[in-house]
Amino acid sequence: MDSSSSTSTNADSFPRYVVKLCGCNDQAVIRVTNSEPNRGRIYYSCPKNRKCDMWEWCMPINRR
Ligand SMILES: [Zn+2]
Repeated sequence: MDSSSSTSTNADSFPRYVVKLCGCNDQAVIRVTNSEPNRGRIYYSCPKNRKCDMWEWCMPINRR
């Protein structure tokens, strides 16, 4: 798996998540962590390469 991800959110691969704003007042992007022990967990981060250090676990609206 390639751990690099683009800044664009791929709406097809994720269920719906709450839209969050980062510290830059931009819509936070959703990323997947590839590091243990939380591999596969989804989190928000700044769309500008963490310019504002925004980081928060994603809260899935409907997760199976
Ligand atoms: Zn930001």
